[in-house]
Amino acid sequence: MPAVLKHSACPSCGHRHHFTLPTGDLSPGHDYAYVCPETGALASLRPQSLPEAYHSAPQGAVQLTPADQGVTAVLDALGQAVDRFCAQLSREGYMVDRERAGDLHLILVRDWDGEVVGRYIASAAAGRIWIEEFQNVAP
Ligand SMILES: [Zn+2]
Repeated sequence: MPAVLKHSACPSCGHRHHFTLPTGDLSPGHDYAYVCPETGALASLRPQSLPEAYHSAPQGAVQLTPADQGVTAVLDALGQAVDRFCAQLSREGYMVDRERAGDLHLILVRDWDGEVVGRYIASAAAGRIWIEEFQNVAP
């Protein structure tokens, strides 16, 4: 029976969604990964309340993946988040070099002159997915 969290605040878009975990335990204090339907970004949810059990998930409910059990799913989602991030930078006219080192994604952003304007590191550490600017790297 799917566990459902109704009207829960989404850290990605700030709106509320219904969330569902099709099977397994949906427990407060654990992290779950999902893709926000409004921003398209990968996000992480830590429920604050107990879910309700339903015979079927409400229509449009956002599917959660346990971040600590679904390592492969999280890494796939991380790759997709990096793809979207790089595609957005390309659309903005930047050149993007990316490199994968184990579970880390390194992203080097250059402007039209070839000048490095940003370095980002993306990872799924402790079940959370994040992409952040990484400043203190020797060129
Ligand atoms: Zn959202």
